[in-house]
Amino acid sequence: LKFFYDPIESLHQLNQILQSGRAAGERVFDILDAEPEADTVGGREMAGIKGQVRYENVGFSYAGKTPTVHGVSLEALPGQTIALVGPTGAGKSTLINLLTRFYEYDEGMITIDGVPVHELNKAWLRRNIGYVTQESFLFNGTVRENLVIGRRDATDEQLWQALQSANADGFVKRLPDLLDTHVGERGVKLSVGEKQRISIARALLRNPPILLLDEATASVDTETERQIQEALEHLMANRTSFVIAHRLSTVRNADCIYVLEHGRIIEKGTHDELIAQDGMYAKLCRTSLIAAETAAEE
Ligand code: ATP
Repeated sequence: LKFFYDPIESLHQLNQILQSGRAAGERVFDILDAEPEADTVGGREMAGIKGQVRYENVGFSYAGKTPTVHGVSLEALPGQTIALVGPTGAGKSTLINLLTRFYEYDEGMITIDGVPVHELNKAWLRRNIGYVTQESFLFNGTVRENLVIGRRDATDEQLWQALQSANADGFVKRLPDLLDTHVGERGVKLSVGEKQRISIARALLRNPPILLLDEATASVDTETERQIQEALEHLMANRTSFVIAHRLSTVRNADCIYVLEHGRIIEKGTHDELIAQDGMYAKLCRTSLIAAETAAEE
């Protein structure tokens, strides 16, 4: 079980590489070949994941603090997209970090296909749950090196397929050395939207049955926005996805939206249902949290 499959910790470590300004290549493969951490040893592995996820009365507090998440119950059926919205500090990130056992819940239970996550092997769990943050970065290295973090044995054909699904093939084809073009500080500088699409291609290659997506709020032009949105739709298709959502187009497409405030779910429903309720969600849509496109579309 190789460490590179662990999305959160490997990204964290890649970030450290970036910050320390070290060359990627060799150093990254060091990390990728590292032994799993002690706390990822033990626990069961399931034969496969269909993707039903249930939170039942989940409670959690960071050490010594008042509870951050209280009595949260939610369910995602296999392949569904669940949007989490709410003001800053409401507990959205905490909630998704409990699924990967980045933190352990104190109360209630979280299950995948009926199996409590606390019984599952952590490294295995994280290999099956993709985590994509659109603040994601590329490290100094080639496009290929950045992509194969998702799957080291991928063929060129698979890399191009993933780039195409992520709407990234067009600009990669225009790079001087195609997949072998160096990107990042010492290579070609890519735009925010291009970087996001490469990170989506990386996630497509990993092909996890469950996806956690933290949508970026970075402002990009309308055409880039459309291309990213389409890439995300390809990524979320046929896998259970939890999205910390900031775009109206994402919440509109979600099977269910859960609205969090102070660690509790205060509203639940589709976009139209929640707008009709005229509660917190409708208010969020009127303010900056999910607002950018609202004015234009309504
Ligand atoms: P945002 O939209 O700003 O990312 P969020 O809804 O994702 O917010 P969380 O990041 O889950 O909210 O934070 C919920 C609460 O828990 C906040 O009050 C935050 O300060 C606190 N918190 C988050 N991480 C930690 C931590 N590692 N230790 C202690 N408190 C934390």
